[in-house]
Amino acid sequence: MTTSIIGFPRIGENRELKFNTEKYWRKEITEGELQNFAKDLRLKHWNLIKSAGIDGIPSNDFSFFDTTLDTAYLFNIIPESVKKLNLSPLDRYFALARGYQGNKGDIKALPMKKWFNTNYHYLVPQFTKDTEIKLNGSKIFDEYQEAKDNNIQTRPVIVGPFTLLSLSEFHDVKPSDFIDQLIKTYQEVFEKLSAQGAEWIQIDEPELVKDVTGEKKELFQNIYNKLLQDKAGLKVLIQIYFGDVRDVYNDLIKLNVEGIGLDFHEGRKTNQLVQSGFPDDKILFAGVVNGKNIWRNHYAETTDLIKSLPAKNIVISTSCSLLHVPFTIANETFPTEIKQHFAFAKEKLTELDDIQAILNGAGHEAETKNKKLFEKPRIQPNQAVHARIKKLNDDSFIRHPSLAKRAEIQKKEFNLPLLPTTTIGSFPQTKEVKKTRAQFRKNEISQEDYDSFIANHINEWIKWQEDIGLDVLVHGEFERNDMVEYFGQNLDGYLFSKNGWVQSYGTRGVKPPIIWGDVSRNRPITVKWSKYAQSQTDKIVKGMLTGPVTILNWSFPREDISIKDSTIQIALAIQDEVLDLEKNGIKIIQIDEAALREKLPLRKTDWYSEYLDWAVPAFRLVHSKVQPTTQIHTHMCYSEFTDIIPAIQDLDADVISFEASRSNLEILDALQKEHFQLQVGPGVYDIHSPRIPSVEEIKTTIHKILNKVPEEKVWINPDCGLKTRGIKEAKASVENLTTAAKEIREEL
Ligand code: GLN
Ligand code: ZN
Repeated sequence: MTTSIIGFPRIGENRELKFNTEKYWRKEITEGELQNFAKDLRLKHWNLIKSAGIDGIPSNDFSFFDTTLDTAYLFNIIPESVKKLNLSPLDRYFALARGYQGNKGDIKALPMKKWFNTNYHYLVPQFTKDTEIKLNGSKIFDEYQEAKDNNIQTRPVIVGPFTLLSLSEFHDVKPSDFIDQLIKTYQEVFEKLSAQGAEWIQIDEPELVKDVTGEKKELFQNIYNKLLQDKAGLKVLIQIYFGDVRDVYNDLIKLNVEGIGLDFHEGRKTNQLVQSGFPDDKILFAGVVNGKNIWRNHYAETTDLIKSLPAKNIVISTSCSLLHVPFTIANETFPTEIKQHFAFAKEKLTELDDIQAILNGAGHEAETKNKKLFEKPRIQPNQAVHARIKKLNDDSFIRHPSLAKRAEIQKKEFNLPLLPTTTIGSFPQTKEVKKTRAQFRKNEISQEDYDSFIANHINEWIKWQEDIGLDVLVHGEFERNDMVEYFGQNLDGYLFSKNGWVQSYGTRGVKPPIIWGDVSRNRPITVKWSKYAQSQTDKIVKGMLTGPVTILNWSFPREDISIKDSTIQIALAIQDEVLDLEKNGIKIIQIDEAALREKLPLRKTDWYSEYLDWAVPAFRLVHSKVQPTTQIHTHMCYSEFTDIIPAIQDLDADVISFEASRSNLEILDALQKEHFQLQVGPGVYDIHSPRIPSVEEIKTTIHKILNKVPEEKVWINPDCGLKTRGIKEAKASVENLTTAAKEIREEL
């Protein structure tokens, strides 16, 4: 038995690729210097993988930005506007990824979307009438050659045609217009690689884990029947990840390919499918080492699983690319008892090698050590948390009285004008704010100095909000670095790595905290500053929290309990905070669920049963105990929830704000059609641009909203993200917003 991986983190052990790429963008190094750096980094990673004992080593999994973009670039799927710019190939590539504004022109970046159920983002290829598919660029060939010149035989990786077409956007054209040309060009890639001496190619087709029926299934069959007619002598590995292929398994195993890679972790049905039979003439690349989690593999379970598989030829592999985990645990400073439970990318290579050794009858030492690790419980349960969960009953998840009754009560309580105005929470995080927070973290300034800095900022912004006549104020979130870490630091059960970066998009990374144990709140988190802000004004100041589903979705979850159970624990911790805020005089509390949509299962048929059926009650648990006079807001960072409106309604918040302006307010029709009951604040202007919307413009938008939503249900707010704006434009825009709202009120 041999070992293989699907892909490796390309950013480097210390995010070197990020820093060098950004240097190039700032023109501090030349293109040649960046290319040389990247070349060294690739070689370093190949050698690392090879010396860890991995047999199947991928190439072309490296990218300066994104591998879907690399594939689109390779096939010349590049908008005319970008081709016309007179740029070098690398700069043209970056122009697609980041836009270009300079003496050669002005073009926008390609749209970016989340890569399946991960926090990685891909650039969305755009097909138009002008798209002419042909080979363009030589990255995949060059990188194969580079490795080969260093005596490393690699398996080039490419995004498969089915996934590529499914993820792309089509303007006045359709996927079928391009199939023949696309297939021909994939086959040219096969030919060239084969001529260079490649043995294998890995074709990634994660799209196959979604619901693949009807027309979609036909598209898949159509593509692959043609594509595999001419492989130029290459062996083909079809690589699946992020789920199982229940809709196409039987088609897949009949294809003219040499290898099929399946995910045994997220693919709940993968084992069952394989047990139904796997052809003798193909190799099963069994994704048994989890490419997404940060926990040690349980060797005994894994080897038992592999031994049970009916496949004749097996390669031991990861469940997905290691791109989605941090580079190594080696540089972290956790105590050994903790550290021994973690495996990041580099450690997962060793795990594959260990598993191979054990299956070959060796590896006794690794086997014993691993067995010991799982012998005793990793953590002591927090009895108080478990007792509290045990006491929950159906009523714990229901707020009384009903939404409609609360609306009446709150109307009297707050006496807000029609079309009340507010913002989503944060105000500009200036350099000064970030610097002061960093100084405080490094103990360079005292608690006293830091507190007075934050207090001054709050005062200043409260005063401004009063001056311009906003109705519900916020404190501005100056004390927060982000939406999860700030909370996690005050929750028991959380751990934070120093260098656990995972690529999010391009050179941007995230450092998800780790849920280590049972979660509970060890002290009030937001009470101090919310209370302070409220004490500075007679207007209402909204409390500002992150919801349990978002906290969970942006963390590395435990695996010894379900994510549902972890979320309930977090929900109870946030419930404590909500009740504390209420006790301290905070009358409106916003609980952000920015990431609720993110973890929707890839199969639509699983949306409720696998996710929403517990995620929505977890949110309700957070606010179910507040007084009828306390108003609960929630916020979502998008407006694509037309397909889950009943679930959003079920959150049973009193008010929801969302990012609507960028999606052209399309959501309003759906809200109207589905008789949406919550009060809504569809963002009235796009915050992601420095431009200041005029009063007239905002009024037009408000009119559009009032055409679809009853006026007593409408709130007026900007989209989220004021923290990313400069002070001047933030103030000018929100001032125009309050003016617009006032003028419209007079018309009504
Ligand atoms: N309250 C947060 C803010 O205004 C919400 C952030 C978000 O929408 N992601 O920054
Ligand atoms: Zn948002």
